[in-house]
Amino acid sequence: MIRVSLDHLIVVYLAILLGFLFCVWVAAELFHTRRERRRRRDFVICGICDHVFEDRSEKHLMNCPRCGALTERSKVREI
Ligand SMILES: [Zn+2]
Repeated sequence: MIRVSLDHLIVVYLAILLGFLFCVWVAAELFHTRRERRRRRDFVICGICDHVFEDRSEKHLMNCPRCGALTERSKVREI
């Protein structure tokens, strides 16, 4: 039988708990980054009427749903 003191048991428990929380934090951060990248890629701003719309297709040129002008996909920058 392995004899472990209460101090060592608490240290091991806290290390496992902190490791688990670190893994959850890293996974949440990766998920958030991926979702943010996809959101920026899908939103398109019309150059004519400044209408912001979402387009999930892979086309480079699309018609604006408000004014019908051909709009080129470009990066949406956060302010
Ligand atoms: Zn437009």
